[in-house]
Amino acid sequence: MTLWQHIAARIGELSGRDFRPEPPRHLGGGCINTALRLTDGEQQWFVKTNSADRLDMFEAEAEGLEAMADTGTIRVPRPLGTGTHDGQSYIIMEYIASGGAGSRGQALAGEQLAAMHRHTTERFGWHRDNTIGATHQPNARHADWIDFWREQRLGFQLELAGHNGFPNLARRGEQLLERFPALIDHDPQPSLLHGDLWGGNITFDTDGQPVIFDPAVYYGDREAELAMTELFGGFGRDFYAAYDAAWPLDRGYATRKTLYNLYHILNHANLFGGGYASQAQRMIDQLLAKC
Ligand code: ADP
Repeated sequence: MTLWQHIAARIGELSGRDFRPEPPRHLGGGCINTALRLTDGEQQWFVKTNSADRLDMFEAEAEGLEAMADTGTIRVPRPLGTGTHDGQSYIIMEYIASGGAGSRGQALAGEQLAAMHRHTTERFGWHRDNTIGATHQPNARHADWIDFWREQRLGFQLELAGHNGFPNLARRGEQLLERFPALIDHDPQPSLLHGDLWGGNITFDTDGQPVIFDPAVYYGDREAELAMTELFGGFGRDFYAAYDAAWPLDRGYATRKTLYNLYHILNHANLFGGGYASQAQRMIDQLLAKC
């Protein structure tokens, strides 16, 4: 039985509906995994595959999608299941046909994301680790946001940078770890975050409703989410206006934005090297000058 025949049988079992798809169409666009669409002309499912040792990554993704879907705020593809077959792992989820944002799409995204961020909990972190890009993302819980950001986010990536041949970055970063608490002079709540919300991880369905996918979920300062939307572009003015109308950001966000995006740039330096390491170094210098 080939992988997709196994997955088709699994979909039949999990959904309780007979499913005999045509051979799959491979989709482009993913950074990490192979993506396919399985359809029998009536039902459609979106499937990502990787080597069997990445099952954990898919299980964490499914739990993240579930956690966001359960808030009933912004649309996410509902996961159906995960598994392995013949040396491969996979995740199956609802297939989302993309439409356009329409005139209201960006504003809806801002409004609905703010509503998702209203889902808060006691501590920062999550009940399990997950991945950011292809990198492990630790989510051990902390009552204090500064401790969380220091240990689970910047400290973790700086240590990786030291191992990956960027000792200067790691050394300069150590100074920032001591001094950055001065920049967090507000009182963030642990909000449910998508965690990897760049422009490539949002689309709009055929009704113009925003849909977010491919998350790295945890509970954290919502400003970290907003910061990432600004990092690579793709979110419009109406998005920010609607978010702000629903839940204004605290003063000092502009400075903290660099601190929060440093995490993603460090991750890019660790994954792709080169120019991202210099960018991270510049961001650290800029932040140290403000501490
Ligand atoms: P990767 O984990 O490899 O980064 P993504 O989750 O980003 O992969 O998915 C790859 C591409 O497939 C996305 O850029 C998007 O265009 C499309 N896609 C993602 N999720 C769905 C879905 N549920 N339904 C339809 N297309 C999707």
